[in-house]
Amino acid sequence: MAKREYPAEPSLNEVEETDKEHVFGTWSFQKEVSPTEVVDADGVRFTTADGEEYIDFSSQLMCSNLGHSADKVSEAVAEQVREAAYVAPNYTTEARAKLGAKLAEVTPGDLSKTFFSTSGTEAVEAAIKIARFYTGKQKIISRYRSYHGATYGSISVTGDPRRLKSEPGIPGTIKAPDPYAYGSTLDPMESVEYIDEMLELEGDTVAAILVEPIVGSNGILVPPEEYLPRLKEIAHDHGALLICDEVMSGFGRTGEWFGSDVFDVEPDIMTMAKGLTGAYQPLGATIVNSEIADHFEENMLCHGHTYAGHPAAVAAGLATLETYQEENLIERANEMGEYLSEHIDELAEKHPSVGDTRGVGLFRGIELTKDPEERVPFGKREDKISSGSTVVDEVTTTAKEHGAYVANMINTLIIAPPLTITEDEIDEAIKAIDAGLKVSDNAMKI
Ligand code: PMP
Repeated sequence: MAKREYPAEPSLNEVEETDKEHVFGTWSFQKEVSPTEVVDADGVRFTTADGEEYIDFSSQLMCSNLGHSADKVSEAVAEQVREAAYVAPNYTTEARAKLGAKLAEVTPGDLSKTFFSTSGTEAVEAAIKIARFYTGKQKIISRYRSYHGATYGSISVTGDPRRLKSEPGIPGTIKAPDPYAYGSTLDPMESVEYIDEMLELEGDTVAAILVEPIVGSNGILVPPEEYLPRLKEIAHDHGALLICDEVMSGFGRTGEWFGSDVFDVEPDIMTMAKGLTGAYQPLGATIVNSEIADHFEENMLCHGHTYAGHPAAVAAGLATLETYQEENLIERANEMGEYLSEHIDELAEKHPSVGDTRGVGLFRGIELTKDPEERVPFGKREDKISSGSTVVDEVTTTAKEHGAYVANMINTLIIAPPLTITEDEIDEAIKAIDAGLKVSDNAMKI
């Protein structure tokens, strides 16, 4: 399939032009960056400078879980900034203490003490360091189809091709196969036994296994029910910790508080960001169980940031968690997820280019294929670090022209709307995706 030419002169307004000239776009060839100015965002919709309005069917970067009108959160932030905009991490605020306690309440089992940072990346960095400090071992096993962050530690444990430009990365990172029933030669439960063998062969040198309980940006991969419990057992049999990266799968996205809850598993360490503040403020969090927490009573936690537990960010976090509870948004995500899944099934029936549909709650993926028999993808994994756009990009561009913003990663549309979305809004966005999928259907025949 020939790649679509990127327009030589994309139409940009003055704000967009200035931004393009002076601000780097992320993960991009800069000549291809084409920022769109957003002038308003309300409920599950946002409006761009040209007056177009879109349903946000991916919560921006799978993070605006409360949509764009969570007044309680905006007010908590404004109030905190007026009261005390910043205090150093050795001071505290009421919101920081309460958020720490609330995270202990809503996370599984004995997870009880949190290190705050400002992003998912930093949450993972902290988890890697804590696991190494606690176990006295160095190696981290993670999986190929994964994303854990952009800084050197977190990109080194990331499996997707974005890591390649930063290799060799930090020492002691090892990649394992994934539970990817649609596209891998290994059956998911075989893949987990392979990890058992890897641990055996690595001897007593592995600090932790790090996984997204449900893989997010690498294609919404939902493992079988027995997978995560077995992975925890394997880790513990070999004296390693289980770290669950819940940056994307946390906070109601899956119809449960966390992806780990879907499988009834209590990890030793959990990382969070995104939905933790509904993206109203940048905040990352790494929560550990009480045994790990106790270890640092007599051993230094040699880690910290100026903005660890920033008052405005933790105020947003607390107000966000209260909103999930007061508005029963976790249960709502479950109900709306059922409704969404029925519509996605209808799209799959209708469009031959839909190869597979996967997901739970409001965390769903539509994987496209050129050839359903052979399961040939439209996009290759390497497209993530190459120039130009793919058929899957064109599908989302068309969906956008029909009023819905949908993120896509490699070969999969990532459907993750705010938990506040209504049935009518789902119907509207599904129609837009329906229009987009005609593009991939047509591309199959070329
Ligand atoms: N872990 C996972 C599972 C993620 O999805 C992401 C971001 N998409 C990160 C870590 C990194 O988070 P951030 O972009 O906030 O640094």
